[in-house]
Amino acid sequence: VKVEIKELESAVEEVVGRMGVIERFGKAADHIEGLAEIDTDRFGIAVVTDGGATVTGGEADEPFAIQSISKVFGLTLALQAFGDEVWKRVGREPSGDPFNSIVDLERQKGIPRNPFINPGAIVVSDMLLDISAKSDTNKTVREFLADQIGEDVGIDRKVFDKESSSGFNNRAMANLCKSFGNLNHEVEAVMKPYVSQCAIALSARQLALAGRYLMDGGDKPTDQQRLLARRVNSLMLTCGQYDGSGEFAFRVGLPAKSGVGGGILAIAPGVASIGVWSPGLDDNGNSLLGTLALEQLAERMGWSVFG
Ligand code: GLN
Repeated sequence: VKVEIKELESAVEEVVGRMGVIERFGKAADHIEGLAEIDTDRFGIAVVTDGGATVTGGEADEPFAIQSISKVFGLTLALQAFGDEVWKRVGREPSGDPFNSIVDLERQKGIPRNPFINPGAIVVSDMLLDISAKSDTNKTVREFLADQIGEDVGIDRKVFDKESSSGFNNRAMANLCKSFGNLNHEVEAVMKPYVSQCAIALSARQLALAGRYLMDGGDKPTDQQRLLARRVNSLMLTCGQYDGSGEFAFRVGLPAKSGVGGGILAIAPGVASIGVWSPGLDDNGNSLLGTLALEQLAERMGWSVFG
């Protein structure tokens, strides 16, 4: 699909201008030191089109911790390595609960509802530890991202240290999965790559570049790559914003994944990959300005998976 670049540039400029006059930004995540002290009025956006053009606005080159957005890339690696085996250990249903909720996990016998809530991503991290046994390419989410973006990818040390030493709730969920036999490795061995992938720091521009394989299946995609993109997109649409997923689909109409660092990756299939960042969060832990910006951009460009 051809995107009119001039139109996209003026749409991005208009959205950035509108974000600048909004005075309610939500709250930065307060459970992770390193995220709590960032100014909530900051905003950056980048759009990469299927044709390869990049259009940016605001602080598009400012790195932020991608947090739960990393769950998309972890799932991608697990699906590439294990195919449908993945679904024996994690479900595909929206949870209707917050990202860090533990209540449902016991009822589900340690099988998390989906890969985009914390326990789901923890189980996926456990699977990724087994990939090195099968092959030695693209073992970690960080290496996968560096490959997709074509640049080195850093880690936010402060966020990494804080989540390494606390994260008691995540450890509790990992232990519960382990007690049901849904974790092959030791809890601490799994927490380390999980916490590292959450602390990966990308800019909105890098995030948009990283999402290209979901927009079009990748460079000269095979049928299998297209299918993988379609499946990951479907989960982003239904589960990508935790218990705010239905509302997000209604307002924005695009598959997307948020993180408590304030980033959102959104995909207009066949058309564009969008990275947006603003650290103020709504009650579900999704970027408030980020969501608003995506809603306005999608409406203005006529992008929606619902026609
Ligand atoms: N690292 C965060 C956590 O485990 C990830 C959650 C998120 O981005 N929603 O709480």
